[in-house]
Amino acid sequence: SQVLVCGGTGCTSSESMVILQNLKNEIKKHGIENEIEVVRTGCFGLCELGPIVIVYPEGAFYSKVKPEDVPELVEEHLVKGRILKRLVYHEAMEDDRIKSLNNFGFYKKQFRIALRNCGVIDPENIDEYIAFDGYKALEKVLTEMTPEQVVKVVKESGLRGRGGGGFPTGIKWELTAKEKADQKYIICNADEGDPGAFMDRSVLEGDPHSVLEAMAIGGYAIGASKGFIYVRAEYPIAVQRLEVAIKQAREYGLLGDDILGTGFSFDIELRLGSGAFVCGEETALMQSIEGRRGMPVPKPPFPAQSGLWKKPTVINNVETYANIPAIILNGAQWFRSIGTEKSPGTKVFALGGKITNTGLVEIPMGTTLREIIFEIGGGIPKGKKFKAVQTGGPSGGCITSEHLDTPIEYDTLTALGSMMGSGGMIVMDEDNCMVDVARFFLDFTRDESCGKCTPCRIGTKRMLEILEKITQGKGTLEDIDKLEELAKEIKASALCGLGQTAPNPVLSTLKYFRDEYIAHVVDKK
Ligand code: SF4
Repeated sequence: SQVLVCGGTGCTSSESMVILQNLKNEIKKHGIENEIEVVRTGCFGLCELGPIVIVYPEGAFYSKVKPEDVPELVEEHLVKGRILKRLVYHEAMEDDRIKSLNNFGFYKKQFRIALRNCGVIDPENIDEYIAFDGYKALEKVLTEMTPEQVVKVVKESGLRGRGGGGFPTGIKWELTAKEKADQKYIICNADEGDPGAFMDRSVLEGDPHSVLEAMAIGGYAIGASKGFIYVRAEYPIAVQRLEVAIKQAREYGLLGDDILGTGFSFDIELRLGSGAFVCGEETALMQSIEGRRGMPVPKPPFPAQSGLWKKPTVINNVETYANIPAIILNGAQWFRSIGTEKSPGTKVFALGGKITNTGLVEIPMGTTLREIIFEIGGGIPKGKKFKAVQTGGPSGGCITSEHLDTPIEYDTLTALGSMMGSGGMIVMDEDNCMVDVARFFLDFTRDESCGKCTPCRIGTKRMLEILEKITQGKGTLEDIDKLEELAKEIKASALCGLGQTAPNPVLSTLKYFRDEYIAHVVDKK
């Protein structure tokens, strides 16, 4: 038997590591430690039901397990072979770690590519990654493909940047590959900063080798020998798993000099970010790696021509990389067969707010918001009515019930005045005040403004003052107009993406919920 215990941040904060230790102790007490393997995995995605424990071969999915439940769980299930009905959430799963997670409600409409190994393998055991086809894609590109062929496959797959921009990854790689330089770099942007977003954290915690493998593949494709992962210091579990993974990959000859005896050399270093949201912007991120203050610089030149230390550089986010090994192994056409024509593949979303199944989901592009919120997410708790969903974090906007049947892809969300962003999805019900939602996000961006340019530094501050006046019942109708005007000005004149998108939550709530703003100033509530 195998007992899988979630070791993601969510379950860990609910004592899953105590549960894991208790399991080991109890199993030993019963003298069955040679028959049962206890595996700590990454996030299973269904965070609402954590801590989660799955027992194979039965595939019994236990939810909300507490440390004190462990003696009974071991006695009943592992010693007597009887599923513990009191704790089991779903019991008819398969004896296959990957297939079983496609087996019931929450997972049925999902399609896990980036998350394929999360909740499936032990992220600190390279042998488990290898057993699930890990490093096969790297071996394939190094032994069977030219760098040009690798770029071609990624380009043909249609993969677009999952950090929010949606720029075609293959084109980015192609532009950098074409540059002539003595040194090139490949960077992983793991500075996930949107409130409510934890997609990248979960991939790094649950499957760090997939990112290392993809970066090595990218390094080969563009001619880079050095990679950097810029990860937030506030993600201690992700940082620790990356350190372990890099060390193991070096020991196995999968990073470092002469990888797999092919003559290709590539290594990766970690750089820890200190929580400045603006460092997720690629030019600021590179400044920070270089040891400077993380502030955006105008583009062009683009990183493909002049990036880190003015050398040609590819910078992609965690989720984008996590797709690469699967694309290399299964081919561009396979990837294109999933999702939509303009946005092939899948997208990971972090579901939060007023939703039954808080957690992490990966869906084919083109899935509708209704399917995500009501079928996968289980709808709104306590019988409340859906009001809106906020996508794209502080750069995004709110989408209302009339657009619930919109298929999700980059362009449809932008057309609705929101954006894909990195994948945060915060659901609001009838009790949420939309003016307050806008104020929350603006407070965040105002706080995170790096101060380099005036529209963002001063403008967001003035916008927040007006919003606070309105929420305190002291505003006027002219204040609403002034707020809108200022929002448009900042959008048009700020230097980087942070400032250009900071007004979005205000503009989209003004567009769809102007009556709520008016109610605040007319009824003075
Ligand atoms: Fe800094 Fe804001 Fe200007 Fe970006 S828009 S450079 S975050 S002040």
